[in-house]
Amino acid sequence: NEYLHAYHSVLHLQYNKETNTLALNRVASGGTIASLLGPVAEAIAQLLVEGDATLVKQCEHPDCILWFYDRTKAHKRRWCSMALCGNRYKAAQFRKRSSS
Ligand SMILES: [Zn+2]
Repeated sequence: NEYLHAYHSVLHLQYNKETNTLALNRVASGGTIASLLGPVAEAIAQLLVEGDATLVKQCEHPDCILWFYDRTKAHKRRWCSMALCGNRYKAAQFRKRSSS
């Protein structure tokens, strides 16, 4: 709540030349730490209210600090990114098996 309350934002109308469309975005006003952390605090608050906390998981790679929201159907996702941590883990397992 501290960061949610400290976050001040304004609406910003933005024109996209390539698609000839307008978009209404919310942007931080001011350059304080609170305004930088505000969008993060909002996203977390929204997740806590609307999301399923059991689907927030920590990446299983031992060297990774990332968490993710498991949107897979079976809810068995293990990695923040298959391309990064999943493959790193599989390559390490393969090296282990090959060397023994
Ligand atoms: Zn990871």
